[in-house]
Amino acid sequence: MSPEELRGKLEFYRDLGIKDLYRREPVSAAQTMPLPKVIEPKTIELPSLVPAGDSLPRILEDIGDCRRCRLHEQRTKIVFGVGNEQAKLVFVGEGPGADEDAQGIPFVGRAGQLLTQMIEGTAKKEGIPLLRKDVYICNVVKCRPPENRTPQPDEMEICGQFLTRQLRAINPKAICALGATAAKYLTHSKEGVTRMRGNWHKWNDIPVMVTYHPSYLLRAYNVVPKREAWEDLKKVLHFVYD
Ligand code: URA
Repeated sequence: MSPEELRGKLEFYRDLGIKDLYRREPVSAAQTMPLPKVIEPKTIELPSLVPAGDSLPRILEDIGDCRRCRLHEQRTKIVFGVGNEQAKLVFVGEGPGADEDAQGIPFVGRAGQLLTQMIEGTAKKEGIPLLRKDVYICNVVKCRPPENRTPQPDEMEICGQFLTRQLRAINPKAICALGATAAKYLTHSKEGVTRMRGNWHKWNDIPVMVTYHPSYLLRAYNVVPKREAWEDLKKVLHFVYD
């Protein structure tokens, strides 16, 4: 083979991507191709879970005629929340019952009347000028679970985004979790209410007091949980309003 023929063959094989004529190893694309220019990654602005300048009317508007979970199927009214939008104290229950579902207002049934008595009665006894309308009251889920069953994890997850926005928009000095569902949802604790109650926990940076749900107090046979719930409330009210 003449030198001309050899050079031609080498060029032919090189063009085919063969590095060494004798070893006949294919050259990877990475070895033959010029390195690509490094492209600076773009900073992607992710939308915040909580829109800037969020407000309760805006959250209510975003909820709209919600059909995000199965709870919408049997609800009459969405129960958003009630009270002072700048409250220093927010009470969080589990989910609407029959009366709340009919009226669209949280804690208006028997348990609600007891809650009102607890708030206003304790405040009066402690010399704190406070009425139910001065606090904010809402629930983990905004639609009544059928037969008043406990909301399911996916229902709480979906609806909880609105509770999160409500709590951030109000930004209270403290939150009072009424019963196990609200306590677990807000604190992620696996402990029962009996162990959690009376102590401070946290939701983000906001102190959370856990106490018994008023429905439980209506059913409780002995007076101990009632006395304890009043103690818990006294603690919260002094913490927030002193
Ligand atoms: N129980 C709750 O948890 N919330 C209500 O609004 C009424 C009863």
